[in-house]
Amino acid sequence: MPSKPCRICGDDTLHPFLDLGEMPIANAFLTADQLRQPEYKFRLRTGFCSHCLMVQLIDVVDPKMLFHDHYAYYSSISRVMDRHFAGLAELIGESLLYDRELPLYEIGSNDGILLEKLARWNPNAVGIEPSTNVAEVARNKGLTVVGEFLTPALANELAAKYGRAQLVVGGNVLCHIPDLKELAKSLDGLLDEEGVFVFEDPYLLEIVTQLAYDQIYDEHVYYFSVSSLSRLFESHGLRLFRVQPIPVHGGSMRVFGCRAGSRRPTESSVGDQIELEQENGLGAPEAYTVFAERVAQSRQSLIDLLGNLKREGKRLIGYAAASKATVILNYCGIGPETLEYVCDTTPTKHGLFTPGTHVPIVPIETFAADYPDYAFVLAWNHLKEIVEKESAFASHGGKFITHIPTARVV
Ligand SMILES: [Zn+2]
Repeated sequence: MPSKPCRICGDDTLHPFLDLGEMPIANAFLTADQLRQPEYKFRLRTGFCSHCLMVQLIDVVDPKMLFHDHYAYYSSISRVMDRHFAGLAELIGESLLYDRELPLYEIGSNDGILLEKLARWNPNAVGIEPSTNVAEVARNKGLTVVGEFLTPALANELAAKYGRAQLVVGGNVLCHIPDLKELAKSLDGLLDEEGVFVFEDPYLLEIVTQLAYDQIYDEHVYYFSVSSLSRLFESHGLRLFRVQPIPVHGGSMRVFGCRAGSRRPTESSVGDQIELEQENGLGAPEAYTVFAERVAQSRQSLIDLLGNLKREGKRLIGYAAASKATVILNYCGIGPETLEYVCDTTPTKHGLFTPGTHVPIVPIETFAADYPDYAFVLAWNHLKEIVEKESAFASHGGKFITHIPTARVV
């Protein structure tokens, strides 16, 4: 299959390296009625551009199909994320805000989990969130939320209405935006001369080294390295001045940027991280070929482990119906013949079925009411938290399964 041009630089230098197969939309949980209808699927493949170094999805889903009036992910559900955003708000409030009058903007403000904390530091905190249901939750907290996708036109409109921004922040949102050139133009329209932007996204080096292939799904168009992000921003009159690795979502990078001509000096963390990426081979296609081979091995180890346990007559369930679960279950071909159900804490998911694989989703209480033999943790990055929370399961003789880098009982 001929490769498509790179979404960032437009060159024909995109090397496809991983094919996770036909995939439904990760958050498109199904009702019982929908199980009988055809499901939208697309080919989940990634490529590496050897010219601009950006790792990206080769085929993307229209964002309007992903971020809509019944978006299923509410940030505030997770206590871990709540603590994380409290730390981010404090860092921003204490060291980055410099003018009480100038507004700050959060792109993809979801249900306001970060925005409400920022609003305590600056009353002119404005959220930008196109998913109407989550935006409404934030408005009900008294927050200002603009219910649209950020475009250069909207950026100019906001700057005229509320003023230029001393800060633009986005948690796990930059990687969702297919047209990053438009985003850069929007930043240009929004940012004050000494304004700062802060983005946190899953970090490519962590994905590669931890084998976190379940970070790859429809909403994540890009998988950033500091090298690729630096180049992107520099080509739009912006620059990174600090980077900071953070543990959320299984390994993310917090990047701090400003206008190229800002007085802020570029700190050594930027160059150090780029050097580390080069040492790990992220600048050449070979590292990605090796990654894809390891992903395939991981898949086989999971199929073998779950298959053996089923043949022994064990009862297996899945724990946590996150987007990651959709990728793992579909890529590895795991359905209701293997997992009795997937339990999850999100009430809106109860009674629904996992996309593509059609495993029923039940409340977390169902798990404790009749413990199975094994619980496959579909949110591997929360494994420790889940094992601690569910200590009674182990007391009843239950065991957890995790799947990367190789499937094993823990
Ligand atoms: Zn490129």
